Amino acid sequence: MNEKWIEKNIDSFAVKPNLIDYEKEYKEFDWEKVESEFEGLRCGGLNIAHEAIDRHANSALSEKTALVWLGQNGERKTYTFGKMKKESAKFANVLKTLGLCKGERVFTLSSRIPELYISVIGILKNQNVLCPLFSQFGPQPILQRMQRGDAKVLLTTKKLYEKKIIPILEELPELRFILLLDSDEDESEKVLSYSRLMKKASDIFEIPHTDFGDMSILHFTSGTTGMPKGVVHVHKAVYTHWISGKYVLDLHVDDVYWCSADPGWVTGTSYGIITPWIHGVTNIVDEGEFDGARWYKTLQDEKVTVWYTAPTAIRRLMRIDSEPTEEYDLSHLRLILSVGEPLNPEAVIWGEKKLKLPIHDNWWQTETGGIMIANFISQTIRPGSMGRPLPGIEAGIILKNDDGSITEVTEPNKEGELAIKVGFPSLFRAYLHDQDKYDKCFVGDWYISGDLAYKDEDGYFWFVGRADDIIKTSGHMVGPFEVESTLMEHPAVAEAGVIGKPDELIGQLVKAFVSLKPGYEPSEELKRELIGFGRKKLGVAVAPKEIEFQENLPKTRSGKIMRRLLKAREMGLPEGDTSTLED
Ligand code: ATP
Ligand code: MG
Repeated sequence: MNEKWIEKNIDSFAVKPNLIDYEKEYKEFDWEKVESEFEGLRCGGLNIAHEAIDRHANSALSEKTALVWLGQNGERKTYTFGKMKKESAKFANVLKTLGLCKGERVFTLSSRIPELYISVIGILKNQNVLCPLFSQFGPQPILQRMQRGDAKVLLTTKKLYEKKIIPILEELPELRFILLLDSDEDESEKVLSYSRLMKKASDIFEIPHTDFGDMSILHFTSGTTGMPKGVVHVHKAVYTHWISGKYVLDLHVDDVYWCSADPGWVTGTSYGIITPWIHGVTNIVDEGEFDGARWYKTLQDEKVTVWYTAPTAIRRLMRIDSEPTEEYDLSHLRLILSVGEPLNPEAVIWGEKKLKLPIHDNWWQTETGGIMIANFISQTIRPGSMGRPLPGIEAGIILKNDDGSITEVTEPNKEGELAIKVGFPSLFRAYLHDQDKYDKCFVGDWYISGDLAYKDEDGYFWFVGRADDIIKTSGHMVGPFEVESTLMEHPAVAEAGVIGKPDELIGQLVKAFVSLKPGYEPSEELKRELIGFGRKKLGVAVAPKEIEFQENLPKTRSGKIMRRLLKAREMGLPEGDTSTLED
């Protein structure tokens, strides 16, 4: 037992965790058995919308709240599973009446309003493919994605339509309809009012036979490392959502669950819509953007029990430096989770201290469709580790050989590429229109993630960095995450982004971009102090040799530090695709 590890005392938990004996559960797991957790369609097959909404609406949960919507300006609306069934049936009928066929793509571009969530379910019911866009994209990224995704229908709001769609409309000849979620009048034969169509539609819709392998969602990646890729998922991915909801989110039917991710990103659909609902759990949706006080108040007022968020949000809360448990009643909260980029050990420990709960890091990608590696509520946390693979998931560390073959690393603590054995249901089925890139992700039985990691003696995985971000300095390989996490241990540091800057003598020089906590000012003295701090903790070879202060680091709109941009700017190179760069 390491003194930094966070041990769990299950006897003190108010709710008995779904997973208690990790090893046993892992050994005995069988994907075949997951099938019995689903009702399936009467006409055969499996459809996510049925499992998420209709089956509950047809059961004792019909009057239970499925969705609690918190409007930006303090409004609050609730929808039962029964109501969601009817409303989404209406929308499925709308799509059917508009002549949309199975497999055709429906894009969404909207802030987090209830109509968006209703439509998502309706789209899946009518066997259309959901393609969520992030509402803060500008016209060009929207155009690119809609063209690449073969958009047939777009759902959006009047304001977004006027500002972002009109300028690109001529370049989308294949787009048949635009439905305005908040407009009572049709604008033209092509631009229609959602509410008018909904009023005319029947609230009964029988979902047609849907195959496990039918396409359900097309998601674009975050664009952290380059041009976003269109990732294709199928209805069967819901198996992974179900097991991760059980084991990782530890969902119990009485939970009140909040996922702060926007459905424009994969976490916001897989875990902000599908997973809570397939477990029959009440799902909180907040229309507002990040705001520390508002978020704490939401956790308190809605009595949230399970909260899924991201490192960037945690770091922002850390910056505020308050005593949340003294100011708010967070006593209902029993589990906090984070995903999206590495969670610094400092953040895990901050949670333990300030929120009275550690933060459970977990790892996955748009491509894996669901959580693959996680810290489980009942298991010891080793801060800085992403945890262990879910039952049903085999993760490994592999090395690529020169002849194109691979070798699985068997010794502990040796770095290599993080790979997942193929065969789990939510693995993506294609990069849309890019077979070549897709094929390159697979070697033998392994899907190669593009991230570097190592596995310790006990099977815990530790993130090192993205393969593209690894720094080669004086013959050493340095992962940016380790350096960033160490810098964050210094009281002045709020955030750090580390890159390798080309250097004639040593190959690459470790350079850190640092933003400071309130109350600290950039100075030469502080730079020297941070360099010294790094050296003491990391050794001279790994510690940053250069520090640059920046008020805010460049991030994707989903909150990930864009190291490739820090590097391009440092080297005066073109910035590449910046469609997902935060304003
Ligand atoms: P792109 O593929 O377009 O560059 P992206 O990889 O950021 O963008 P996502 O699929 O949203 O797009 O993110 C998945 C990636 O996020 C992972 O491959 C990993 O690099 C990072 N990530 C996610 N969770 C974690 C985690 N818990 N620890 C470390 N890294 C994480
Ligand atoms: Mg990626």
